[in-house]
Amino acid sequence: MLQLPRSMDSLYDFPFSDLEDSLRSEGIKAVHAQEIYRSLYKKGGKLAPGAQRWIAARKPPEMTIVKDLASSDGYTRKFLLRFADGKEIETVLMGYRGRYTACISSQVGCAMGCVFCATGKMGFTRHLTAGEMVAQIQFLNNHLATEGKEPLRNVVMMGMGEPLHNFKELMKGLAVISDPRGIGIAPSRISISTVGHIPGIQKLAEAGKGYELSVSLHGASNQERSALIPINKRWPIEDLLDACRAYSEKTERKVLIAWTLIEGANDSDDHATRLAELLKGRQVHVNLIPLNPTEGFDGQPPSEERVLEFQRIIKATAGIPVTVRQRRGIDVGAGCGQLAG
Ligand code: SF4
Repeated sequence: MLQLPRSMDSLYDFPFSDLEDSLRSEGIKAVHAQEIYRSLYKKGGKLAPGAQRWIAARKPPEMTIVKDLASSDGYTRKFLLRFADGKEIETVLMGYRGRYTACISSQVGCAMGCVFCATGKMGFTRHLTAGEMVAQIQFLNNHLATEGKEPLRNVVMMGMGEPLHNFKELMKGLAVISDPRGIGIAPSRISISTVGHIPGIQKLAEAGKGYELSVSLHGASNQERSALIPINKRWPIEDLLDACRAYSEKTERKVLIAWTLIEGANDSDDHATRLAELLKGRQVHVNLIPLNPTEGFDGQPPSEERVLEFQRIIKATAGIPVTVRQRRGIDVGAGCGQLAG
């Protein structure tokens, strides 16, 4: 695996307790951690000389805007961002009447190879650092501030990459993003989307932070699922649903089950019935996502009537909540599965 391109942690790589440790190790009082967080993430307050020294010795991750694409839907904006090593990722800002959600990338490319996903086609290049994830949030919050808008309210780890494949940096980045002394986006407003990385789900349950877990299922049998999501061969459906159950028991939260609807592949009444049987009695909420077009994959989204019928069958058979995701940013390739740099 390729190594992270870092010689020293960036300004944004420090969860609060790590920051306190770092200050102590440099002979600066840990009490200054609070004002450093305020200065970095709330843009205000005075800094003691020790705190100024600590900040001056570090930089945020270098990131330049390569493209800024606004969707004609009026709500979605996609940014192509380049890091100092030339690697590029995409970050999406989604507006929902006065509240804003960031869709953040966790890796350059992705190793999971889902057949319907543009990022999966790129292959894996490298993990992002915690600071590079935080930098995406900082960038979007600065962007919103310059437009006189409210800061981000929600974060979805649903951009490029499988976040649980980059577990350690993900946890560090989210610790910074959710800390009320800084950016302050509560864990309940942060969603981690996985394609079924079971060891990561188990570690996330142990961490007990209360982030929302969203699991992409897309197939109700191992054969069907493996055809869309190759890593299902390693982490099959039964084990995945066991891990989801353990997660909801530990966190007392429902797990979100994402199902990308592909016409003729997984959108029939039979698929809906089998999915409902699989999920009956579980603490889950199903989110249906009509397929977004990607280059190199021929699949199409089903008609609206089919989507609604699929939804109706699951609700009637399993008695669990089922919603249909709003389609946003499709014209600028900012929808689920479309991010490819
Ligand atoms: S859907 Fe997610 S996990 Fe699958 S290839 Fe795309 S980015 Fe990776």
